[in-house]
Amino acid sequence: MIIVLRAGATEGEVRQIEDTIRAKGLSAHISRGVERTIIGAIGDERKIDTASFEGLPFVDKVLRILAPFRLVSREFQKEDTVITVRGKTVGGKRLALFAGPCSVEDRGMMVGIGERVAACGATFLRGGAFKPRTSPYAFQGLGEEGLKYLAEAREATGLPVATELMDPRDLDLVARYADVIQIGARNMQNFRLLTEVGKLDKPVILKRGMSATIQEWLMSAEYIASEGNQKIILCERGIRTYEPATRNTFDVSSIPVVKSLSHLPVVADPSHAAGKVTLVEPLAAAAIAAGADGLMIEVHHQPSMALSDGPQSLKPDAFEQMVLRLRRVAEAVGRNL
Ligand code: PEP
Ligand code: MN
Repeated sequence: MIIVLRAGATEGEVRQIEDTIRAKGLSAHISRGVERTIIGAIGDERKIDTASFEGLPFVDKVLRILAPFRLVSREFQKEDTVITVRGKTVGGKRLALFAGPCSVEDRGMMVGIGERVAACGATFLRGGAFKPRTSPYAFQGLGEEGLKYLAEAREATGLPVATELMDPRDLDLVARYADVIQIGARNMQNFRLLTEVGKLDKPVILKRGMSATIQEWLMSAEYIASEGNQKIILCERGIRTYEPATRNTFDVSSIPVVKSLSHLPVVADPSHAAGKVTLVEPLAAAAIAAGADGLMIEVHHQPSMALSDGPQSLKPDAFEQMVLRLRRVAEAVGRNL
């Protein structure tokens, strides 16, 4: 960390900064110029909050050198993380394909859609039993009943299942059924929830919050990793901007940016980014081309009757056709789908 003092800072003020740096266990390197004094804090600067200096009247600016996240950073681990669940992988050359309905609605649809997406090459089955809905009057999910249908669909298809956890009080229940736990966009900064899933030995999909910066997203991943769980799958699902033509704005640039900053796998969810079925495929193609490690796609047998997110859900036939075309995109960038 570099602390640039204002012109005219006194020796006493320089010493005050030095003392604060030393008290945190770092050493201080002082460089006196003609007009300004610059102080370098040498050591693990994550132990120091920039705010300890920023508020001082004799400090001009404070610059961090290291990213504030550590365990999830590329500096900490050079090689890409590859997560294996029931023989399926996330990360590496083969793209992961999470597919299934937004909500688990009944047993028949979970098994039926599960079998269809499995036949098309999906590697994980998704479906929400606890749904984060904007309206308290909208369908909230089937809860444990839904988790049971998911588990039955796993038996029928052999696909590992991913489902959302919204509340730490449901953790034991959800963890009993799920192979992969999803933390939704709205809970990306629910730090208690992140801490609890960090104690599990189970992969976690961490969706990007709809107004979260990349750094905030990675800090949330750090919460999970710092509790011991390194099996984290990041998911870009679009951010909220001023543009109303799409449900969210798909931030395709976050994929290569995150892959350069972190060793964690990044999957893309074009369904929630687009909000419209016609936009899912072009966004999915862009995500693969940008280096995503997988996709999450909502599929429903009868989208007009879906209890949530029907307008962005592909019918199984359309999903099948899309996967065939996306395979060629994946091959063009040296990946398999
Ligand atoms: C979902 O996956 O159905 C969902 C609610 O996603 P998000 O948290 O990205 O909105
Ligand atoms: Mn959804």
